[in-house]
Amino acid sequence: MPEPSLENREPEQQNELEIEALLDKIAKAAGSAVLKEEFEQRQKKIDEAAKKMVSGQKLIKPEIDFLSQESFPNEVEFSSFELMAEVFLRIGLGQELIDEIIEHERAHFDAAKEKGLDAKIIIKFYKLKNGSIQFLPAIKTGFEEGGDSTSENIRKVVSAPSTPSPSDKSKIE
Ligand SMILES: [Zn+2]
Repeated sequence: MPEPSLENREPEQQNELEIEALLDKIAKAAGSAVLKEEFEQRQKKIDEAAKKMVSGQKLIKPEIDFLSQESFPNEVEFSSFELMAEVFLRIGLGQELIDEIIEHERAHFDAAKEKGLDAKIIIKFYKLKNGSIQFLPAIKTGFEEGGDSTSENIRKVVSAPSTPSPSDKSKIE
């Protein structure tokens, strides 16, 4: 008898399969985590490009190419915040921290969707010299290059959370 397809499974079972697949991806992404220094270099490039967009400056081709990269091996994408919360619970994060992360990222996500921008829920892994693995949650937004409203839209997305992170602040100050 053929294996039942994903579509034919009970919703709960399907949820469990998605969580297991995500945990598997997390293990791989954590294994591809880059050192903090390299990670921070990448983050700096992203922050600087966002800052330029917010201030209405045009991005140069290498910046566009860098931002257009689909994903890095150290990233994991989630199809919903509910799945993200469940996975965070399984990897041992406390409920309070989970709520805090999701409230913050959801504000960015909703603002991006409201502006018609493509938005992905991701976490990115990096590691410390002692080998310990850390991660950063983020919303990856699409950007329309040169659109009239780009600067204002990106500013709204970046400044959406009630408590912006230092990285958020660096883009809009
Ligand atoms: Zn933020």
